Amino acid sequence: MHTLREYFKSLSKYFFSLYCMGKYPLGFRSVGRTIWMQFSEIAVKPILSTPFQELGYVVHRKNEKDCFVIDPGLEPENFLELFEKKGLNPVALLVTHGHGDHIGGISAIREQWKFAKIYIGEHDAEKLTDPKKNLSANLGFGLTTPEADVLLRDGDQLELAGISLEVRHVPGHSKGHVVYWIAAEPKGILFVGDVIFQDSIGRNDFPDSEPAIQISMIRSKILTLPEDTIIYPGHGNSTTVRAERRTNRFLQ
Ligand SMILES: [Zn+2]
Repeated sequence: MHTLREYFKSLSKYFFSLYCMGKYPLGFRSVGRTIWMQFSEIAVKPILSTPFQELGYVVHRKNEKDCFVIDPGLEPENFLELFEKKGLNPVALLVTHGHGDHIGGISAIREQWKFAKIYIGEHDAEKLTDPKKNLSANLGFGLTTPEADVLLRDGDQLELAGISLEVRHVPGHSKGHVVYWIAAEPKGILFVGDVIFQDSIGRNDFPDSEPAIQISMIRSKILTLPEDTIIYPGHGNSTTVRAERRTNRFLQ
């Protein structure tokens, strides 16, 4: 694992601009904030995996130990250390889409937390077990994870760690990409993977990307949410529906 990490670190500056974020404006280098974010009843901890600057998240109800994970990246030790330190119990691993930088930590977490179920959109499920489809084969190694436990469809409602989530299918970057919306908090929280970033959108030139529908899907599935909704992307800064509706250069 150490060797793999060093390998990625040596390449990550190059791939940072090429992998999931081909549409980032040149010069964009923010890795996003990784401090705990406190909402009225929920706490969210962004966790950075340095290869590809990918952001995963740990989410739990305040004063509760059950939690779920969004997109555990290529440095799962960061998640495992947090569970240990805070006494958290991960009950689910939610995947926005099956690209290697978003699923790289699943296997290591599942080794220690055998009952944490894996959730992924039905059209991205095969990426978990196919290194070509999850793009890791292109990078010189073969990444696979256990098979999914739960396949998700648009509109699915989940109840995990005492938190209600709605699943929205947003193809464009990846065929089976889903986002996870927590509507209960006053402001709403949305985990979007590589669908949309601050002033950018996910690249759309992968074999199962769908550039023709990408913008319309973002408009109908993301920009229709309440304006105060906080967006946590898979790379870079958090943002809001309001900010992206008004200023995202790809959506004007
Ligand atoms: Zn991606």
